[in-house]
Amino acid sequence: MSRYILERLEKFEPYTVGEQPKDNGYIKLNTNESPYFPSEYAVGAINETLLKNLRLYSDPESSELVKAIADYYEIKTQNVMTANGSDEILAFAFAGLCGEGAVFPDVTYGFYKVFAGLFGVAFDEIPLKEDFTVNTDDYLNVGKTVVLANPNAQTGIYLPLTEIEKIVKSNPSSPVVIDEAYVDFGGESAVSLIGKYGNLAVVRTFSKSRSLAGARVGFVMADERLIDDFKRVKYSFNPYNVNGVSALLAANAIKDEQYFKSCTDKIISTRGRLISELELLGFKTLPSLANFVLAEHSETDGKTLYEKLKERGILVRRFGGGRINNFVRITVGSEEQIDALLKAVKEIIK
Ligand SMILES: *Cc1c(COP(=O)(O)O)cnc(C)c1O
Repeated sequence: MSRYILERLEKFEPYTVGEQPKDNGYIKLNTNESPYFPSEYAVGAINETLLKNLRLYSDPESSELVKAIADYYEIKTQNVMTANGSDEILAFAFAGLCGEGAVFPDVTYGFYKVFAGLFGVAFDEIPLKEDFTVNTDDYLNVGKTVVLANPNAQTGIYLPLTEIEKIVKSNPSSPVVIDEAYVDFGGESAVSLIGKYGNLAVVRTFSKSRSLAGARVGFVMADERLIDDFKRVKYSFNPYNVNGVSALLAANAIKDEQYFKSCTDKIISTRGRLISELELLGFKTLPSLANFVLAEHSETDGKTLYEKLKERGILVRRFGGGRINNFVRITVGSEEQIDALLKAVKEIIK
């Protein structure tokens, strides 16, 4: 650190990303990427003309992508804004929509706390219940911006839409940001509520269910006025935030419903098998509707399990220090990757 850094950022802990090893030999089950390639239809549209057009700035509105998203969710284009990954959307929310501070669970996506620190937003972390579920009552009439991942990050637990609606309805003076990075793996989206509530922002990504983590495309769906607020922040920061290649990949990926469905169906089915096999081996797992499973074994601590899996060429994620210290988070990979994981786990715990 130099002496030039802001004082506020001196003690601040940046987000720790999951390991991205240079060596491709690992079975990577640590950052919730898709084991499947992006849609062929999407990749096939990348041609030389498109690449040559990188000479020009991209369309700041990503109009074609916004139109594809609006068509898909049957909303208006005025209800959509795109960004460089959903992390950027979340950053915009913390930068511009948390005037009264923010609340989020104690166990959730680690970036919320980081963004709060970066933008100087006061925040409360509300403990999840003993069973790691959200207590809806904790989020009623809070008078601060509510940020909830649904399904929740790290736990995979989904909060029913009726509960989300209670939270949105009881906080008319504060934005409620629902981060649906994992909703395509079995949950029901809150996008159906955006016409009814002006304070709801639904945040989505192409990184997980649409196999485009490296393309960096995310978006937000909300009432037109709230979208205008997001645009005020975006146009004050980086107007050309989505490049043309990524925008076309994403627009075509969302049109390839059949491929999307085949990938999410496979992941949902593999997740079921992973959970039941882990439970047969004596693991406790949380009921996940995401593309990962949080699991703990009573006789092997999380750190040992993580390390021994790594020795065997398998990367999982561990969040040390807090309430999920003893758990490992396993991304639902392909059937073959999960076979390899289960084989290694059996060797480790016997
Ligand atoms: C992966 C993830 C994101 C980030 O997605 P990007 O679009 O790749 O930036 C956001 N929120 C949660 C809860 C995630 O797990």
